[in-house]
Amino acid sequence: MSFLKKTFSILLVFIILCSIAACQQTSNVEMEPIYGTEFVLNTAATVTIYDSDNYDLIDQSFQICRDYENKFSKTIKDSEIEKLNSRQISIVSDETAELIETSLEFSAVTNGAFDISIGSITNLWDFTSEEHLVPDPNTINTAKEFVDFRKIKVNGQEVLFENENTQLDLGAIAKGYIADQMKIYLIEQGVESAIINLGGNVQCIGRKADDQGFRVGIQKPFDSGSAVILELDEEYSSVVTSGIYQRYFEKDNELFHHIIDPQTGFPSKNNLLSVSIISKDSATGDALSTACFVLGIEKSLNLIDGLEDVYAIFIDENYNIFYSSSLKEKINISQP
Ligand code: ADP
Ligand code: MG
Repeated sequence: MSFLKKTFSILLVFIILCSIAACQQTSNVEMEPIYGTEFVLNTAATVTIYDSDNYDLIDQSFQICRDYENKFSKTIKDSEIEKLNSRQISIVSDETAELIETSLEFSAVTNGAFDISIGSITNLWDFTSEEHLVPDPNTINTAKEFVDFRKIKVNGQEVLFENENTQLDLGAIAKGYIADQMKIYLIEQGVESAIINLGGNVQCIGRKADDQGFRVGIQKPFDSGSAVILELDEEYSSVVTSGIYQRYFEKDNELFHHIIDPQTGFPSKNNLLSVSIISKDSATGDALSTACFVLGIEKSLNLIDGLEDVYAIFIDENYNIFYSSSLKEKINISQP
C-alpha cells in the first residue's frame, strides 16, 4: 500500500470512529425518557428514567413497590402488618422489622407526633368512602388508649406489643421507605438519571441530561399549580409533602383530613395546609412531613433546625410560605 493510501485509510477509520462517538454522545443527550405510571399504594405513581430505554427497569421497580406494599399495608389481608395487628405472627421479615424500628426512632425524635401505633384510631376513620362518617368521640377516646410507640418493642425480627389492642399503621412512612428502595434498585441496575414519584412523594436519582438538577414543584394546596419550585440534586434528592388537601372530606362545614393528632385522635388542627420536607432519603422526609404537620410551624422549626440535612417548607391557611432556617442556602428555589 502506498504511503498516501495508508494515510487515507487511517484518516477514514479515524473519521468513522469520531462520527460514531459523536452519534453516541448526541443520542445520550437527546435520549427520550421512558416512564411508567401505575396505581400503587392507593395513589398514582410514576417512574421516569432518563438514561435507559429498558422498560424492564420500570416494571421491576413497580414490582418491588408492590412487594413492599404487600408487606406493609394494614388493609391488605395477610400482609405482615395485618398479621401482626391480628396477632397471628410476631416474627417479621428483616425489612418490616427495620421499618418499624426506624419508625420508632422518628416517634422518639418527634415526641410522638409521628406514631405508627396510631392504627386503632386510623381504623375508625375512612377518608375514601362517600359516607363522610365522623367517629364517635368516646370511641376515639377508647382507641387513643392503645396509641403509644413506647409500648412496641423490636427485638431482631420479633415485634412485641405491650398492649394487646395496639394496632400498627405504617401509612405515614411506607411510601418514603419504598421510594428509597426503588432508588437503590435502579442505581444497582446502572441508572444514573431518574425520578420516582409515588403520589407526590418524590425521590430523584442524579441530575437531568443537561446536568441541571431536577425541578420539582410543591403543589399549591387545593390547586393544580405549584406554590414553589425546587431544584433537587444528588445530595438533597427527596421532597415529600403532607397536606390536608390529599385525603379529606367535608361535613357540616368542617374539613376532616387524614393526618391525625395522636393526642386528640382527630385530624390535626392548626393553621397549616401543607408541610414539605427536603432530605436525602425519602423515609425521613415522609415521617417528618407527617410529624411536622402535627407539630405546627413553631415546634417544627425547632425540630428541623436541630436536625442535619433536613429542610422544611410550610404553607399556611393564607397561602403564606415559610422556610426552615438554612434551606435557601442549600437548595435552589424559585416561584413558578
Ligand atoms: P400521605 O399518605 O398522603 O402520604 P402522610 O405521609 O402524612 O400522607 O401519611 C398519612 C397517613 O399516615 C394516614 O393516612 C394514616 O394512615 C397515617 N397517619 C395519620 N396520622 C399519623 C400520625 N400522627 N403518625 C403516624 N401515622 C399517621
Ligand atoms: Mg408521611
